[in-house]
Amino acid sequence: KKQLLQELKGKENITLDGRKINIFANIGGVGSIGAVLANDAGGIGLFRSEFLYLESEDYPTEEQQFSAYRKVLESMAGKKVIIRTLDIGADKQIDYFGLEKEDNPALGLRAVRICLTRPEIFKTQLRALYRASAFGDLGIMFPMITSVAEVEKCLAVCEEVKAELKSDGIRFNENTEIGIMIETPAAAVISDLLAPLVDFFSVGTNDLTQYTLACDRQNAKLEPFVDTHHEAVLRLIEMAANNAHKNGTWIGICGELAADLTLTETFMRMGIDELSVSPPYVLPLREKVRSLDLSR
Ligand code: PEP
Ligand code: MG
Repeated sequence: KKQLLQELKGKENITLDGRKINIFANIGGVGSIGAVLANDAGGIGLFRSEFLYLESEDYPTEEQQFSAYRKVLESMAGKKVIIRTLDIGADKQIDYFGLEKEDNPALGLRAVRICLTRPEIFKTQLRALYRASAFGDLGIMFPMITSVAEVEKCLAVCEEVKAELKSDGIRFNENTEIGIMIETPAAAVISDLLAPLVDFFSVGTNDLTQYTLACDRQNAKLEPFVDTHHEAVLRLIEMAANNAHKNGTWIGICGELAADLTLTETFMRMGIDELSVSPPYVLPLREKVRSLDLSR
């Protein structure tokens, strides 16, 4: 079986009737790039940038971040790399952030909410990202979006950073794609309003499921109540896909559901453009895609 999967390296992610999809990989650190390449992923669909902050004793500097991002982009040699901006919250404790303990961290101050209230941290990361953009095909993605105003604020900070880099004479890719995670029911429901603002969506099914079904993803006791194929979650994904495509925005899925082979056909019928999974799932997913016939 393993041997058969190895033979799929270098092959296309194409159904029997000729429909293609991108299969990317999710990683949480520079150390996993070897696995991304070894499993022949088409790109990185989710690079969780938290590791840089978690591994550090103090805020990682622009230089430290730039060199990490650049390394990832160079290792991927022109393949797409989507780096998500900082997604910490009261559940992921980082001492130097001095976050107050919250009773309800999943519904608390996290991700882009922290970045927008602490613009110096956000700007440092975005400067490092844009500087790295000159070394590959970068996409920048914002987590935990719930409103148009948040996206507009994120985009405004991007514009500020770009203007600064220009006046500093620093090279960056003007066409760096910007995307948002669709991982709150609010974002999916207003995806018609969000799609015109960005180049891509990436559905975070872990959080989308948690917030849609009102089940804390950290609470093991709730497992019997979590129907990962719940129609409500699937409808929200489909809604986001339709609204994305009406606006020329592409859409991927980077939550764990992307690796669920019993849903691959459903996602392809929705027109999902990219599935991003943990590296060991790339080839099994390719095998699944190549077995499907969507004309039937
Ligand atoms: C998600 O929420 O599905 C996701 C991909 O992000 P994370 O698991 O890092 O919250
Ligand atoms: Mg998430």
